[in-house]
Amino acid sequence: MPQSLPLNFSQKAKTLDALIHMCWLHIGDGPVNLEKAFEFLNIGLDGGPQVSGFHGAALISRDEDISNYKVLINKAESTAMQRKTQGHELAHLINHVTTKNRACFSYEGQCYSSEEFEADCISAYLLVPIGNLLYAARESWTGVQLAAALDVPLELVNLRFRIALELDELNSQR
Ligand SMILES: [Zn+2]
Repeated sequence: MPQSLPLNFSQKAKTLDALIHMCWLHIGDGPVNLEKAFEFLNIGLDGGPQVSGFHGAALISRDEDISNYKVLINKAESTAMQRKTQGHELAHLINHVTTKNRACFSYEGQCYSSEEFEADCISAYLLVPIGNLLYAARESWTGVQLAAALDVPLELVNLRFRIALELDELNSQR
């Protein structure tokens, strides 16, 4: 039985919708340019250590000034993986700063807590537009095809599909 959506995700989705709207993230058909959200929120985005197994990190500052927050991405990984990590680390910064209050590192084999799952859900929500998901469903695309079109790992497409089912978006937008 797959893990169900994080608590209050439908509430969080409304905040994410506002960000998507303000940054025009879901305009166009191709991969979502999440860098627009980083610019809008004034969060730095940089290359991190290019070591195997390291995905990225969300760095906060002690003064809690968001303009001093920074996300590091391992640019040796595939662009699809880099994009997922961008969304994941951004999720930590906009959602978990108060609970974590420390830097968050993402790496292979890390303990998969509920916050990590939520960060992946947020990444999926930002990087897989509902419009693309519905289009892919209508055209009988495979998940692999949609993942390739959006340049994201397949797991994000699968996660976004589950979110759509749980939020009942597939019925309401048809
Ligand atoms: Zn994380």
